[in-house]
Amino acid sequence: MSQSAAEDLSHVENWIFDLDNTLYPPVCNLFSQVDQRMTAFITALLDVDEVEARRLQKTYYVDHGTTLSGLMAVHGMDPAEFLDYVHDIDVSALPPDDALGQAIAALPGRKVIFTNGTVAHAENVAGQLGIAHVFDGIYDIVSTGYEPKPRHVAYERFLAASGIAPRRAAMFEDMARNLAVPHEMGMRTIWVRPPFPSVDETARHLLIAHEGSDGDHIHHVTEDLTGFLKAVQLAMSAATK
Ligand SMILES: [Mg+2]
Repeated sequence: MSQSAAEDLSHVENWIFDLDNTLYPPVCNLFSQVDQRMTAFITALLDVDEVEARRLQKTYYVDHGTTLSGLMAVHGMDPAEFLDYVHDIDVSALPPDDALGQAIAALPGRKVIFTNGTVAHAENVAGQLGIAHVFDGIYDIVSTGYEPKPRHVAYERFLAASGIAPRRAAMFEDMARNLAVPHEMGMRTIWVRPPFPSVDETARHLLIAHEGSDGDHIHHVTEDLTGFLKAVQLAMSAATK
């Protein structure tokens, strides 16, 4: 942690955290469960085989930003059933993370989760991590009218719903591209960098997480969220003494 990173965040009163692969490391591979359940849902919804379902899943992701958005736009799918199904996963592989919970709790101001998943999924994951109690709110894909990050309108609706002033906020994300709009809006941005994957199918989302990561919309980078937050909090509390 450089002094400048702590100084740069000294005005922040709202701490916004993405959920998946940000509050827990991607090695836990929860996303692959969601990914597989999406394929299964599409197979049943469109009465196609698994290969075709995978192809559509990827195509919609690329063309519409999320698979959900593509299914809604192209097939008029009801999002609620899809979201419930794909997030019905086993999170027991996630180890509790008291250190992260304490680091977030010690930050001055408000802490919220902003996820392209659902509130139920966020509660499930944060509950397993043992950190649910440190957050003041959860904002999900339903609260944005099913508009996902990185779409501009998703952040507009998030800010309207939460009442957060972007110039007093910092956002933490593993997907570099999801930090472009927050940067434009005046938030400070911290990319929680996932490992760069070997080229294999199950790690596709890690590759996508790195896309655009060399842009100037990334203000800070860390591979250790807990360590980063502790250092910021220590520097902030030292500065006010
Ligand atoms: Mg994420």
